Amino acid sequence: MFQDPDDVRKSDDVTQHGGRIRSFKHERGNWATHVYVPCQPHEEFQDLLEKMGSLLVKHGVALTTMKEFHISQSQTVVLRHHWINPFVQSLRVRLGSMHRFLCIADRIQVYTNKERTRTFVGLEVSVGSDHLLEVVSEVDQSLKEFNLETFYQDPSFHVSLAWCVGDAAGKIEGPCLEELQKALDAHEDAERLTRFYAEEIRCKAGNKVFCIPLK
Ligand code: AMP
Repeated sequence: MFQDPDDVRKSDDVTQHGGRIRSFKHERGNWATHVYVPCQPHEEFQDLLEKMGSLLVKHGVALTTMKEFHISQSQTVVLRHHWINPFVQSLRVRLGSMHRFLCIADRIQVYTNKERTRTFVGLEVSVGSDHLLEVVSEVDQSLKEFNLETFYQDPSFHVSLAWCVGDAAGKIEGPCLEELQKALDAHEDAERLTRFYAEEIRCKAGNKVFCIPLK
């Protein structure tokens, strides 16, 4: 008769979670959980995204740009509702004493999800990967404690910029990717737009967001 509070969550509109899609059944008490470093874009970032969008259209690919930007530190895993707080606590203990660090994400790269149902164009990290690997190693420990799948063994840290449904990697790799990289390198603000500090780690579980500040 009464709705289980665990059932109260946002609708599964893919535009609301940047193209990530759950590959598991939506079940009462199961919460999609994701750990990431948030990236605050500079104002001029939009201009760069628009230029890249036009180039992609020229190559026959229409992508939707992200509304929020991040560097994933986990896959999207499924957590039972009553494990959310203990999981976040485990992350806090492991990550709370880490220091903030610089990231530069300046290499255009194309990604698909494991199911190859989504394609992403992103900026791969060229500076900061060692620190991100340390974070992932701690996050993986927490995931293991809760019997959850760990991150990619060979992660390619990146900030996804835009996405589309299906596997469009073949269309984007090659000349299109080269043109995108050239457009980025030629942008007058490229150096500034691709630098940022990792200042906190976030864990999003369902529609709740937990912040773990770095020192
Ligand atoms: P994200 O924007 O972090 O959700 O990443 C976009 C997609 O990249 C995700 O669906 C990941 O599964 C995918 N991906 C593919 N290969 C890798 C990799 N080596 N490291 C990290 N993410 C990857």
